[in-house]
Amino acid sequence: MERVDGRRFDELRPIKIEAGVLKRADGSCYIEWGKNKIYAAVYGPKKVLPRHLEKDDRAILRCRYNMAPFSVEERKRPGPDRRAVEIGKVMQGALEPAILMHYYPKSMIEISVEVVQANAGTRCAGITAVSVALADAGIPMRDLVPSCAAGKVDGQVILDLAKEEDNSGEADMPVAIIPRLNQITLLQMDGKLTEQEVEQAITLAMQGCQQVYQLQIDALRRKYAGAEYE
Ligand code: UDP
Repeated sequence: MERVDGRRFDELRPIKIEAGVLKRADGSCYIEWGKNKIYAAVYGPKKVLPRHLEKDDRAILRCRYNMAPFSVEERKRPGPDRRAVEIGKVMQGALEPAILMHYYPKSMIEISVEVVQANAGTRCAGITAVSVALADAGIPMRDLVPSCAAGKVDGQVILDLAKEEDNSGEADMPVAIIPRLNQITLLQMDGKLTEQEVEQAITLAMQGCQQVYQLQIDALRRKYAGAEYE
């Protein structure tokens, strides 16, 4: 089966990752994933605001996901909506198990994801970019968190749906993993799949995550290989 952009069923869109692109953030990353263009910024660990959210034994993680009004075909109303709140929450859930939160009691790590161009799969691209930004910020982690979706279009289980495929498809399943722990930290599903297709989609998405993982490592190597540590 030929896909809209000529990809094989198990092929990712072209991905470019660059670490450390924003001067004012403690850590940052820019990712182009197909037609998605996304910045991730990390601040902290720093003092918790508002104070009542503070935890005595560990840091807290706050994730803000924002889509620019010009990032989508039909102009998006500026400001947070239910979808943005949901994505902030699932990003937090996907990333937190990878971070050594107990190293930083009474502090917070703040994450911003700014989608400047969207074409389906922004939560996966966002999580991927944030974990590179966390590494760029020097925040201790168990591992990076690569993320990638699989779904079903025209009766076929395929990797990494582009917008046209997402629109016409039967299902979309974003996944994120912590490779070293062999742990899944994000698993959502839109649409309908049989039990067997769920298995296929998870396997395919996890293989996609492994490819994304290599690109994350390459991006960090490009930034830091041979560099003096400050
Ligand atoms: N989208 C849009 N307008 C919106 C929200 C989303 O055009 O207000 C598009 C955008 O391309 C996005 C895609 O729909 O990437 C799929 O959105 P979904 O909520 O499934 O999240 P994503 O796949 O980006 O994680």
